[in-house]
Amino acid sequence: MSVRTRFAPSPTGYLHIGSVRTALYAWALAKKNNGSFILRIEDTDRERYVPNSIKFIIQELNWLGLQPTEGPSKSELIQVGEDIEGLSLEWSSHGGPYIQSLRKDFYKRYAEELLQAGFAYRCECTPEMLEKERREQILAGKRPGYSGRCRYINVSPEKPYAIRLKLPQNFSVTANDEIRGKLKFENPPLSDPVLLKSDGFPTYHLAVVVDDHLMKITHVLRGEEWISTFPIHWYLYDLFGWEKPKFLHLPVILGEDGKKLSKRHGAQTTAELREEGFLPSAIINALALIGWTHSSGLEIFSVDEFLRDFSLEKVHSASGMFSPIKLKRINHEHFKLMRVDEFLALIQKNLGLSLRLSESYVNVLKERTHTLKDLSQLLCFLIFPNEYDFQALEDIDKQLIISTLELFKKTVNENLSRDELQAQISAISDSINLPKKHVFKILRVAILRRMETPPLIDTIQEFGFNWTIDQINRFLSEFR
Ligand code: GLU
Repeated sequence: MSVRTRFAPSPTGYLHIGSVRTALYAWALAKKNNGSFILRIEDTDRERYVPNSIKFIIQELNWLGLQPTEGPSKSELIQVGEDIEGLSLEWSSHGGPYIQSLRKDFYKRYAEELLQAGFAYRCECTPEMLEKERREQILAGKRPGYSGRCRYINVSPEKPYAIRLKLPQNFSVTANDEIRGKLKFENPPLSDPVLLKSDGFPTYHLAVVVDDHLMKITHVLRGEEWISTFPIHWYLYDLFGWEKPKFLHLPVILGEDGKKLSKRHGAQTTAELREEGFLPSAIINALALIGWTHSSGLEIFSVDEFLRDFSLEKVHSASGMFSPIKLKRINHEHFKLMRVDEFLALIQKNLGLSLRLSESYVNVLKERTHTLKDLSQLLCFLIFPNEYDFQALEDIDKQLIISTLELFKKTVNENLSRDELQAQISAISDSINLPKKHVFKILRVAILRRMETPPLIDTIQEFGFNWTIDQINRFLSEFR
């Protein structure tokens, strides 16, 4: 049987790195086995749905290079009101719909089946009644949970009703997890869960089991946070008499302080990481390492290298840490691994600069680049050529600045080596009795506009004598 994995995000407006790690392993498992990687949208919690976030998820997966082989069609997206402008969907949509709000008939059918068989019951309790019950339980010091009121009464099908699963007395389940082995749940703290709400929408428990079955998923990869409801899912498979997929609950991702990742740990959605200038390949590299280890201990690898080495056996159960510092280091290494043409293409794509640079100058830039933001800072003199940091020169006499530059223009020429250029600058410093540090500062601001720049001498050599003189003239005309 061919491997079929799925990524089942809820369209809440962002993509968290925890979800990306799940998607990555599911994608890799399918890809390694020539199987299918399915994108299914779990939009049944209507309160959390953010318009156009399905489109956003698709774009993010694209950016990361985690292409599904099956997923929603354009017409599905239109039906749920998503904007499809600019989207090209390169996957099959034959087994759809892949958006859960369009699959309500399936859930209804299977919930009714359980009802008929006596494994579920109609519940007429309103949110107000449930809230009242909850409050009373808390006040009485009891664990809040559904009392089972409607289990014992006959609820008329004429009234609005939800369908609840009837959990057996002394409910106990031994479920299998591929990472953790056998998990025994004895009387887990669960009360009869709702399967189908009165508005016809399923809950996660029903939808996930029905869809994983109908979509013939062979491996369910998801976050550890779903373990507490795992016995319900296992039990539902047994009730339906369906063959179970393999389950893998991936270890939780913690912050560097060992606590669950939260906002105070900094950027952790794909959009935030992009904004901070991280490369998709580095994000993938960093996330791959949370819960899995390369067999030769490699810490820096490309997506292809990851794919070659990935196997489920090497996924472990211990929680892993997400370290922004480590991600930055990995990002830096990914810049260093780029070929010159790749690096220049990246500059073109992200900074809109079409440049031809020597390999040695590209190396100078790479050495100083941890994120794309660093790169845009370094190349600011090309991106915003009219923005001078005149303030940086405030502590130097205006006339001295002008003489330094005039002198530099006279003494430099095309044939000077690095050392000779250095020597010329020293000579200027001596002749006008201005500390060398100041001469450097003047040249840096005049030629490169500001103080945070690539090394001055390397840049002069890279862009050449004529360009350098042009920059100085440009500066002088603004400065005088
Ligand atoms: N919709 C769930 C989420 O966004 C997915 C859970 C699952 O993969 O089963 O976390």
